[in-house]
Amino acid sequence: MKHRVYGPVPSRRFGRSLGIDLVPLKVCSYECLYCQLGRTTNLTTTREDYYPLDEILRDLDDRLDQLGRRGIEFDIVTLAGSGEPTLYKSLVPLITGIKERTDRPVLMLTNGSMLWDPEVLEAALMCDILEPSLDFGTPETFRRINVPAEGLTFEKVVGGIREACSRHTGQVRIEVMLTGGVNDSEEELRAMKALLDTIPHQVVDINTPVRPAWAADTASPETLAMAKEIFGEKAVIVSAYRGTPSAEHEPDSWEEVDEEVANLIAIHPSTLDEISAALDLADSEVLESLSRIKARQVEVRGRRYFWLKLQ
Ligand code: SF4
Repeated sequence: MKHRVYGPVPSRRFGRSLGIDLVPLKVCSYECLYCQLGRTTNLTTTREDYYPLDEILRDLDDRLDQLGRRGIEFDIVTLAGSGEPTLYKSLVPLITGIKERTDRPVLMLTNGSMLWDPEVLEAALMCDILEPSLDFGTPETFRRINVPAEGLTFEKVVGGIREACSRHTGQVRIEVMLTGGVNDSEEELRAMKALLDTIPHQVVDINTPVRPAWAADTASPETLAMAKEIFGEKAVIVSAYRGTPSAEHEPDSWEEVDEEVANLIAIHPSTLDEISAALDLADSEVLESLSRIKARQVEVRGRRYFWLKLQ
């Protein structure tokens, strides 16, 4: 069975992130050119409980118990996964349940497209950190790079992001994903800056695809530097993260290790380094596990990623 809770994954921004996968692969309101999960199979704005809430919370209980037994630490709980997490309907009771179980901050990593919905807004305001994406400065670029579901206009999406960011009392970060030749010209960056100036935030995370993407190229280091200069002092360029092991441990069983590795790479195609760091395992143990679970490999810009399709 595929678990809903995975990781902790080494996050380039937040340290060791325990992820909760709330929607099936790829239920999303966008079909971004840079998506590391491939083409969207269900392009929708319909919000549903794709999995029962009590099943997700039970999975969280089990995972917290498992991590506690193995002495594995994590820094944050992230609502994310195989599609757009805000398409999960029972977000408010879910976040309440998470906060009853752990005092780690809760991060909503969202494409930002549904923040105009009152329930999504309420959930976003309950999270300690809100990070919506904004990859465009104009309606044309929005349609081109994010390929939104019907009904998601530039005005509606930007209005929702603006309201959520204005009312949020915790940390607000905006992620800008730059892809070569699509949204990384100086003109595009200046249009984005003008839009960003109308949305309250503390940090702009400038990113570019480093994982396998179906239709996007990486932006050059020069472009990332230009974006940082244009966006100003709140902007940071997201850099690669190599987690550090939190504990010396022996895994309980190889079956458990295989399950953890499989759940991780089914959602996050990852390098050997990333998997070892996330799960506190030696590289040799990870390689053995990858071979047992018959993980697939793909080489992207000189880095080898392992991935798996779970049923
Ligand atoms: S919003 Fe996220 S999951 Fe959806 S298509 Fe874009 S990158 Fe992929």
